[in-house]
Amino acid sequence: MPCHPLVIIGAGPAGMSAALWAKRLGVTPVVFERHDVSGGQLATIEQPIDDYLGLFADDGRALQRRFVEHLERSGIAVRTNVSIERIERPAHAVRGHVPTHKTETAEGAETAQDCWRLHGAYTGDQTRRPGPNDATVYRARAVIVATGVRPRRLGIPGEALIADTAFASTSRGPERFRGRHVAIVGGGDRAVEGALNIAPHAAQVWLLVRSSALRARKALRERLNDYPNVTMLRETTLERIDRARIDRKRINPGRTGTADGRFVLTLGRRKADSPHLPTAPNPLIVDDVLLRIGMEPALPDMEPPIEQTAEGLWIAGDAALPPSERSIAAAVGCGMRAAKRAVLWLEEQDKIGSLMKEH
Ligand SMILES: Cc1cc2nc3c(=O)[nH]c(=O)nc-3n(C[C@H](O)[C@H](O)[C@H](O)COP(=O)(O)OP(=O)(O)OC[C@H]3O[C@@H](n4cnc5c(N)ncnc54)[C@H](O)[C@@H]3O)c2cc1C
Repeated sequence: MPCHPLVIIGAGPAGMSAALWAKRLGVTPVVFERHDVSGGQLATIEQPIDDYLGLFADDGRALQRRFVEHLERSGIAVRTNVSIERIERPAHAVRGHVPTHKTETAEGAETAQDCWRLHGAYTGDQTRRPGPNDATVYRARAVIVATGVRPRRLGIPGEALIADTAFASTSRGPERFRGRHVAIVGGGDRAVEGALNIAPHAAQVWLLVRSSALRARKALRERLNDYPNVTMLRETTLERIDRARIDRKRINPGRTGTADGRFVLTLGRRKADSPHLPTAPNPLIVDDVLLRIGMEPALPDMEPPIEQTAEGLWIAGDAALPPSERSIAAAVGCGMRAAKRAVLWLEEQDKIGSLMKEH
């Protein structure tokens, strides 16, 4: 199994930029992307992009095409349909470790001890038999993790019941919420935007907000006043999700008719007795539950956590940036910086290796 000099995980703007710069600096990286095409979040941007210096794009896909074309013209191949699920660190990457002399195998590759081990899973056509290129463990001297972000989850009992629907779009096809009772968890822009998208169709929208005030922009907050069917429950947490069974004596349904098949939400009210807060049945019965509680870095598993890494691994793009700075421009810049650091680090390691061999 070869030990690649540099592996980049994720081919969004950050990973693509890192790949381009690494190649330019003399190190051809191996790039893994879990989807069947590079571009990351660009593929989901439907509005025109007018904040990337030097070019306008009709939508994210237009920019994605230009980025992909740039990589292809630079001779960088992305290995798509491979998700890197877990990373094992080499000895030198543990904080406090004193580096020792590196040994080389007959092929010139580092010994297993010096390489990161990346556990990959094939995510493509599951009916296809795995081929010889679908190895599940890859090795690398240096790693750039550019895996973007994923929606944050609550970690409460019963959350698996909404796994397939919790992050469903409210902007595409909001009519499907017609006549439904919907709970949206969150108090930021995306939660309020979700409520505004479906309020014209839904029977009732419950906005479950943990804190005492919405974090959403003022303009969005004000628009909520147009919809009397949106009820904001402040100081309220979602504690548990169950599937309803017909037992109308025990449960106070949020709507008339049978409760069977709907979601039963157990709420925690921090100020349950406050006269200023609207009340809701508890448990609350709804047809849909949407989670809009922010995004978190989508990092592969690593033990101890990836943040405690000393050397040889860099995180780039949205996965490394605070929410307010996440953008295409910042991701591209971050990718460049990670590539420069990785290539410099590899050069330094080689210098130290040759000096140690001489003595
Ligand atoms: C709807 C929307 C509109 C936006 N509009 C704008 C805008 O107008 N202007 C702007 O500047 N920004 C905008 N953004 C934000 C911008 O798209 C992101 O900041 C940018 O894409 C981040 O790039 P990234 O490479 O860090 O992450 P991503 O684009 O998320 O790319 C990460 C890549 O890593 C892959 N990956 C994840 N985990 C693994 C794994 N374990 N193994 C292998 N591959 C993996 C993913 O499939 C993905 O391709 C928008 C985002 C969205 C969602």
